[in-house]
Amino acid sequence: MFTKPDLESMRIIEGSLDPLIVLLSFIIAFGASYTAIYINRRINVKGFFHKNLWLVLASLAMGLGIWSMHYVGMSALVISIPMKHNLFLTLISVIPAIVASYMAFYLTNSEYKKIRTFIVAGILMGCGIALMHYLGMAAMEMDAAVVYNPMLFGLSILIAIVASFASLYIFSITDTKMEKILVKSIAAFLMAIAVTSMHYTGMLAMKLYIEGTIHVHAHDSNMMDVVLFVTIGIVSLFILAILASRLDRYVDYRMKNFDAVTQLPNQNQFTEDQRIKKDTKLVAVVHIHNLEKYILAYGYSFGDAIVKTVMEIMQANLPKETKLYRTEANRFTIIHAPAESVQNTIDGLRCICLLLERPLNIDERMVSVEAVVAVSQSDDKKAVREHFANTIAVLHAPSIQSRHEIIMYDPKIHTFNFERQLSLDIQRAMDENELFLVYQPKVDPELNIVVGLEALIRWKHPVFGIISPAVFIPILENTNRISDVTDWLIARVCQQLAVWNNIGMELPQVSINIPGVYLTSPRLNRVINENLARYNIQVSKIELEITETSVIHDIHNAITAVRIFRQSGLSVALDDFGTGLSSLSYLKEIPISTIKIDKSFIDGVPESEKDASILKSIVHLCYSLGLNVLIEGVETKEQCQFIMGLERVPIIQGYYYSKPLTVEEYEQWLEKRKEVGEQNGKISIG
Ligand code: C2E
Ligand code: MG
Ligand code: MG
Repeated sequence: MFTKPDLESMRIIEGSLDPLIVLLSFIIAFGASYTAIYINRRINVKGFFHKNLWLVLASLAMGLGIWSMHYVGMSALVISIPMKHNLFLTLISVIPAIVASYMAFYLTNSEYKKIRTFIVAGILMGCGIALMHYLGMAAMEMDAAVVYNPMLFGLSILIAIVASFASLYIFSITDTKMEKILVKSIAAFLMAIAVTSMHYTGMLAMKLYIEGTIHVHAHDSNMMDVVLFVTIGIVSLFILAILASRLDRYVDYRMKNFDAVTQLPNQNQFTEDQRIKKDTKLVAVVHIHNLEKYILAYGYSFGDAIVKTVMEIMQANLPKETKLYRTEANRFTIIHAPAESVQNTIDGLRCICLLLERPLNIDERMVSVEAVVAVSQSDDKKAVREHFANTIAVLHAPSIQSRHEIIMYDPKIHTFNFERQLSLDIQRAMDENELFLVYQPKVDPELNIVVGLEALIRWKHPVFGIISPAVFIPILENTNRISDVTDWLIARVCQQLAVWNNIGMELPQVSINIPGVYLTSPRLNRVINENLARYNIQVSKIELEITETSVIHDIHNAITAVRIFRQSGLSVALDDFGTGLSSLSYLKEIPISTIKIDKSFIDGVPESEKDASILKSIVHLCYSLGLNVLIEGVETKEQCQFIMGLERVPIIQGYYYSKPLTVEEYEQWLEKRKEVGEQNGKISIG
């Protein structure tokens, strides 16, 4: 294979390459790589289809693409002797390309990616490409001896390995940005280079020797058929991949936002609509009292049949301007947005009540559904949230015994209010994990290390959906439940730190928001110390965040409290600095360690020169007082660059680095940073 035939009469024949077909072969390699990358993106997204389906699809796209590129590339070679392809070898030559792609993608999508994973994946991919190529070459049948230059032969394999490694590596380190077409294109371009440069170096390594006279040969037209066939294959695969991906996303969307029994939008969708829809005339809730009784007696599928029948009655009687949701197992919610025809909806609801009063025939059993309809209607348009809270007030009214009737919300009778309900629900929320914490990293932009986290609370309420802390914290403050929640929070943070400590993670400092009313309470100090001792956490790992407004209310006691905390070794940060109406004078009185400059100061930077110089002066002032400085709410690269250009560079917290993350998300985020950091010679946590 590597030695020249020594016959005197042997002559070397020259071939030439048709540049247009060379270009076509590159385009095919690029198309296949792009498709493979596109499908690759879905592999680690939890969806309806198993990840193996995406792996197989991606490897088929890549393998077929390499194969197709090879035969297109071969037809670019214009030689003057007849040449055929051995069908069997031609067909099986696709196998190494597909298998190698599968193995490489499998490795690069595994959970623990190290640089050596990419090296192994690059070697596998490169060898697969090379094996495919040289099998394809062996499939050529002609009256000539094929001899390879060993140097170029080796080089072709090396090129395939190195370029595959580079491409797979780029896939993975940029995978968070892979939704961007440009990034996908760059990685696909590199992979196409791997395939084509391997191929053409391999062809350069090949010399053909023939004996006797040269027959003039018309270019093999079957080759174009192969090309056409394979190109069609790739195009259909691309279409299939897009279809499958769309389908997968659609299934995700349906599962998340629609009820499986009725196919109606569910509570998730309602929560989302509730957030968006501000102008509504009417919201009604149909509540079935006795569904559970039938489920207990006859099972879940019987319960489902009741729900479906009720839904059909509702759909048949509600005007088309309404939107119907199944918000809970035994509740339907109706939104009527347009100003006109509200009366039609009310008439429809009356009809529904009448129909539900009669026994329903379900699976040959007569069922008496007991339902009540709570309605909140207004002359002006109101937010859905407000109407919905009213309907809940109706359903919570002690007088609600009546069945089969419409009860209109009346503020004089239905005194239930949202605030009171939340303060009643808070204990259950703590006990049943409706409350949970997310953590937002604070990053030193110069060293690119995480210097701490802020613990932020979330509430997934079973009726009201996700409620923002900006809504429920003030309510809990007003109803004196905030201290209990803060105690719960301190315990949770210490517990989490202990978990991280046990698995050998370097511990970040975690800051906890302390409400003004609780700051000066001796109980706070006790709770912190108890939890630090219980979970064996160093005091320096906790920071307390207090706000200007809370300090201002009771400045003398606040100063004393902060002093005690500082003496015990805790950091204390002043949150949302600049939003209060306070004077700067107390800044030197109160012994805080850190200033968190509010987001509003960075919002206009760097576009507005005025904002930029205000921010610069505040940072300067804070540093001159000997404080640590953090800027909150940094969202863009430009803002980050501006901050990095300051004389002394503050810590950054904001979406630019990360949104608040659940523990799992944070650990993944950190892992990803570590990988990138290791490769850039940086560490990710300090
Ligand atoms: P905060 O303490 O000033 O927290 C920062 C808020 O800014 C968080 O909102 C965070 O998600 C948000 N944020 C961070 N970076 C960015 C960014 O780049 N862009 C934008 N637009 N927002 C950003 P969140 O979690 O909704 O909390 C709002 C406020 O509710 C907090 O303001 C804090 O005052 C209060 N809060 C949150 N969790 C707790 C808690 O556990 N206890 C107490 N007492 N208050 C809390
Ligand atoms: Mg805060
Ligand atoms: Mg803040």
